Amino acid sequence: MVVKNMLLATQKGLGNGETPIFPIQIFKVKDGINVKEGDMNYDLFRLSLETTAKRLFPNYLFVDAPFNLQYYKEDDIETHIATMGCRTRVIGNVNGKETPVGRGNLSFTSINLPYLAVESATIEEFFEKLDKYVDLASKQLYERYIYQSTRTSENFTFLIGQGVWWDGEKLSKNAMLDEILKQGTLSVGYVGLAEALVALTGKHHGESDEAQELGLKIVAFMRDKMDALTEKTGMNYTLLATPAESYAGKALRIVRKKHGIIKGVTDKDWFTNSNHVPVEFKMNAINKIKREAPYHALTNAGHITYVELAEDAAKNIDALETYCLAMKENGVGYGSFNVPVDRCTECGYSGVIYNECPKCGTNEIHKIERIRRITGYLVGNLDQWNSSKASEEKNRVKHGE
Ligand SMILES: [Zn+2]
Repeated sequence: MVVKNMLLATQKGLGNGETPIFPIQIFKVKDGINVKEGDMNYDLFRLSLETTAKRLFPNYLFVDAPFNLQYYKEDDIETHIATMGCRTRVIGNVNGKETPVGRGNLSFTSINLPYLAVESATIEEFFEKLDKYVDLASKQLYERYIYQSTRTSENFTFLIGQGVWWDGEKLSKNAMLDEILKQGTLSVGYVGLAEALVALTGKHHGESDEAQELGLKIVAFMRDKMDALTEKTGMNYTLLATPAESYAGKALRIVRKKHGIIKGVTDKDWFTNSNHVPVEFKMNAINKIKREAPYHALTNAGHITYVELAEDAAKNIDALETYCLAMKENGVGYGSFNVPVDRCTECGYSGVIYNECPKCGTNEIHKIERIRRITGYLVGNLDQWNSSKASEEKNRVKHGE
């Protein structure tokens, strides 16, 4: 009843029908609960898809993906996967209960993959550099943890005192935080796998099977290093498919400054986030899902796959369900759909608006608010975002055809 009414309220919008840009909503898809006709909450799954088509949220979290299901105990809700809206994921734990509850990600540092690729003459050299820089990032994260540990519970009265972190409320006022924070994760992430693959092989993983194979090898290499570090240090090291916000542009500018414009690598205003197939590359939705899914199993600190839909496809709930279930069946952990959502600030009409509002007829384009998703968050005015991300959004192609 609660979920149903929350979805209905989301569909209705705010006071004048505006699309609420917060909070991010996430619908958990689970076999036997809400996946197919006859499941007790299948109606909520359909209602959720309908809501996504109109309002961009909910996103979808797939509880049956093996890397999520491995923690799942039916009678213990604290073992059920949850994710931060934009993608960050905390669940595995070598220092206590394996749960997303009462813990968090302490920090993450991202590797500029295209930079390492452009500076390497061979693939072997690239892996040598990657090895070195992942080690460097891991050490930096550990130093940061050591620094954070020197604080006491008194420095964070709400976080620690109110039990937001496991057992925090049991600490005495002057106790250091090392044992509490050990429950958290330290994550290495990466930006620009696609551009790195172009630099190394001439093609990215959306257009070549060989590039995909190398892409998976690169990401698996980083994940293996995180697992080895976890074993060696007793800290929760994890690998993140980074949601680069300003870094997607900054990482590019660093490479361009030193190496100039390189076709397919530095000739746009941004590097593609994490392991996404480039937004401007034409590919149908199912193929994009299949390309990106294997990276989800490797990135235990979080991941997401986006599918860009044209407005007519989004009004087709059966098609949306097909794509959503394709994510589930192919091993995506967390996924989301982008559909164009425009709103006329003159009359409140919400839907797709081309050159004039279909309700009040205004053609004053500054009165049309265009809601888009940037790195997981909805924004009403792209000009307020950094130029690299605004440029990335303009170049997205639809995957529905
Ligand atoms: Zn209007």
